[in-house]
Amino acid sequence: MRNLLLAAVATLLLCSCSAAQREAASCGYNACPKPVPGRYNVHLVPHTHDDVGWLRTVDQYYYYEVQFIIDTVIEELLDNPERKFTYVEMAYFFRWWREQSADKQAKVKQLVKNGQLQFALGGWCMDDEATTHYVDIIDQHTQGLRFLNDTFGDCGRPRVAWQVDPFGHSKEHTAMLAQMGFDGLYYGRIDYQDQALRRKTRRMEMVWQASQDIGSPRADLFSGKLYDGYCQPGGFGFEYGDEPVQDDPQLYDYNVEQKVKQFVDMVNSRRQVYSSDHLMLTMGCDFQYQNARKNFKIYDKLIKAVNARTAAHNITVYYSTPSCYTKSVHDQNLMWTVKSDDFFPYAHQAHAFWTATSLAGRRSSATCEPPRTNSRRSSRRPVWLDCSGRGRSWRPSSICCVRLWELCSITMECLVRRSRWLPMTTHCESRLESTRLTLCCKVRGESHWRQCGILRHVFLQPGKHLLLPIHRLE
Ligand SMILES: [Zn+2]
Repeated sequence: MRNLLLAAVATLLLCSCSAAQREAASCGYNACPKPVPGRYNVHLVPHTHDDVGWLRTVDQYYYYEVQFIIDTVIEELLDNPERKFTYVEMAYFFRWWREQSADKQAKVKQLVKNGQLQFALGGWCMDDEATTHYVDIIDQHTQGLRFLNDTFGDCGRPRVAWQVDPFGHSKEHTAMLAQMGFDGLYYGRIDYQDQALRRKTRRMEMVWQASQDIGSPRADLFSGKLYDGYCQPGGFGFEYGDEPVQDDPQLYDYNVEQKVKQFVDMVNSRRQVYSSDHLMLTMGCDFQYQNARKNFKIYDKLIKAVNARTAAHNITVYYSTPSCYTKSVHDQNLMWTVKSDDFFPYAHQAHAFWTATSLAGRRSSATCEPPRTNSRRSSRRPVWLDCSGRGRSWRPSSICCVRLWELCSITMECLVRRSRWLPMTTHCESRLESTRLTLCCKVRGESHWRQCGILRHVFLQPGKHLLLPIHRLE
């Protein structure tokens, strides 16, 4: 297969040496835990995934949830220097940072400087890859990364890109990330059949040669598919109510041996699909860590219990970050397969496609096809979405759900049926920072059907285009 040819590209990682050399000895890769030779090394990566607008607006999310996440994470990091945390969305971190006292800001700077608090991606948000325009992609990353650089200097620089929730991935987007200087890229969603094959053949990680025009190595990026999305492994989602580690033998329900076994079994199952002696466990999910103590206190106990029994299972586990995992894998000097096309379209199961990629001029199996544009400034203008049902796979029995939600601040969704257009409105009139569009279609009568949300001020008319006003972030 063209895109999976073996090639000797083992050392494409970590190529931005000049910046790495500049960084302080205490942060970045220098702050990573030392792998234990001869053992299987598990990188326990606490993180949170904070959508910059989804069911709530960005400001609502900040006040209802995210401010408490960052508040409590910082306290827990200060409480134990072994702990690490990875934060991603600068739209929130920026809001939080400007509310802090000089004393708190100094403490956070120290956490960044000693590598306990690291950033991944570092854009204003985690943008969609199917429908976004490159000008906006660059702008939103510039905004976030500039804030990090101004605030924390080189120690705040994210080493890896973190695209764990976009629904499919484009090579053009990856080429941009490579040129931004990231050393790695991780994602959570690829087509279910592709994932099954990659798991079977241990090709979950690869070198993505993302642009034949730009060429190697400028557009190459080490890329990894997370095992099963970005949330905790089953049984270890303590915020979900999974059974905590109960480590006092004098109390009922002492379960350390069972939890260690559960952990070791899970690790041994996951390691089958990866090639190196390292495994990244993403310990966090949507808007988690609002009570960071709950997670960290239990993870402390889990790490202690697993490592105390390492002779029995040869696994060692420690707090880590995506960039430290990348560094460890890189240091093993392995050979990787090469990929040179997209991860589009995205389906999570049969007949369940989430992506429409026609804006990028690529194939699409969804039925509502936005018109292609050749205007390089199109994202600064209103976006026209043609839902006239001209897609190849359109059938009278189909229902097309057009989900429009922005990347950064607003949720917009519209529900469209072929026979009628539903007038709906959205609250996006003034704060839309970027637009995400996902089409999902299903055959009438099938059970899986995505709930559509609220739209205000945008009206869909029979047979007409939908006009979405796009306003730039000020
Ligand atoms: Zn998300």
